[in-house]
Amino acid sequence: MSRSALVTGGNRGIGLAVAQQLQAAGDSVALTYRSGEPPAGFLGVQCDITDSDQVDAAFTHVEQEQGTVEVLVANAGMTQDQLLALMSEDAFSSVLDTNLTGAFRVAKRAVRGMMRQRSGRIILVSSVVGMLGSAGQANYAAAKSGMVGFARSLARELGSRNITVNVVAPGFVDTAMTADLGEDRRNEIIANVPLGRLAQPAEIASVVRFLASPEAGYVTGALIPVDGGLGMGH
Ligand code: NDP
Repeated sequence: MSRSALVTGGNRGIGLAVAQQLQAAGDSVALTYRSGEPPAGFLGVQCDITDSDQVDAAFTHVEQEQGTVEVLVANAGMTQDQLLALMSEDAFSSVLDTNLTGAFRVAKRAVRGMMRQRSGRIILVSSVVGMLGSAGQANYAAAKSGMVGFARSLARELGSRNITVNVVAPGFVDTAMTADLGEDRRNEIIANVPLGRLAQPAEIASVVRFLASPEAGYVTGALIPVDGGLGMGH
């Protein structure tokens, strides 16, 4: 069964791994990219998720090319770390605007078609940090935990339309986002991960792929940690 899937921030890192796995599972996969060139083999749509008009235009393009989006993976995100005492209001609000309001923008645009079709899968990529907290990441942690309340509200609103909404909370993953961690910080993190290593993007993507699959039809409002045990208990 080939469905129309859209992955935001699918040009690299976790998003690209998700796009690859959904495509391997048989879906038609579009991905958004903000900068650079999109990877070959996918329908690439340029889109900054902080801009509602760009989000609308991206969905319209995807609908024309591969049909109503049936699987949405809201993956695009960014960090701008700073201790609270030094954090500018702009650093706080821009991280909220990208990670949380960005998820709102794409989910709101996606549910239009999903409600008409009476089926859909929405998967939001949050972070273990949203539940654990992280010194220097109050903005990012607030955005990522906000995604949980957002998703669970949508799960309640949209369940009767056969639309599932779930959250994946990765731990530390080997991508550009974690590339700048110094050696000491990296070792400190790994020391707290029961599995003793960072995740590979494909290990997050396989859980997203499951949540997008027909086999996950009775899973909604779930928060699935994929963190090597780092956040156990949350
Ligand atoms: P990357 O930095 O490799 O990729 C981030 C992606 O988001 C890029 O495609 C980037 O586009 C896109 N993006 C950022 N801001 C915007 C925007 N305003 N509009 C559109 N696209 C945007 O990070 P990861 O692959 O590691 O992260 C993917 C998701 O996983 C994020 O939501 C992140 O918070 C989350 N996550 C990551 C963890 C990790 O350890 N790596 C841990 C937990 C969660 P561009 O290429 O143009 O910059």
